[in-house]
Amino acid sequence: MTTFLPLLDEVRHCTLCAEALPLGARPILQFHPDARILIAGQAPGRKTHASGVPFADASGHRLREWLGLPPEMFYDPHQIAILPMGFCFPGDGKTGDLPPRPECAPAWRAALLRQLTRIRLTLVIGRYAQAYHLPHAGGSVTEVVRAWRDHWPAVIPLPHPSPRNNLWLRRNPWFGDELLPALRLRVTQVLDGEG
Ligand code: SF4
Repeated sequence: MTTFLPLLDEVRHCTLCAEALPLGARPILQFHPDARILIAGQAPGRKTHASGVPFADASGHRLREWLGLPPEMFYDPHQIAILPMGFCFPGDGKTGDLPPRPECAPAWRAALLRQLTRIRLTLVIGRYAQAYHLPHAGGSVTEVVRAWRDHWPAVIPLPHPSPRNNLWLRRNPWFGDELLPALRLRVTQVLDGEG
């Protein structure tokens, strides 16, 4: 079960769009074909770029709370795969990070996803991952997340856990009241091999 290693090595050394990246290429992902949960995120932020560890920031802290997972489980690649839509920090925009680089998903995503044959739950975070993983869902991020039951139990759409979304979380209390308890239950089921 090591046939994926050359592909992973290629991804980790990718410089395809390095000229457009303000801090250069540093692909950050967590990957092993054994994983049962896929976290499809956006792109690493500046702090994550510096650490080289996915979700090593306030967003990651909140995401782990949402999932009910301690860091040692969250960072176990045999359980959790973390594939953002862009693997390198894309740079700062006016109101947040720039979108994931458009070169990244076409270059790598399909090949990596083909290796993830044991995935039972995909967490689709934010609009770029929604466009890729839920192309027919339509609507805003809020509308797609609100209709989370449409994709249950294989896929759960989530908003970005960034502190920038604190207002969104206050305005949408159903997310914490209804979706998060169901999410935690589903994560536990999948990691226990029950789903
Ligand atoms: S963002 Fe993706 S395509 Fe661009 S250099 Fe990083 S890994 Fe390669």
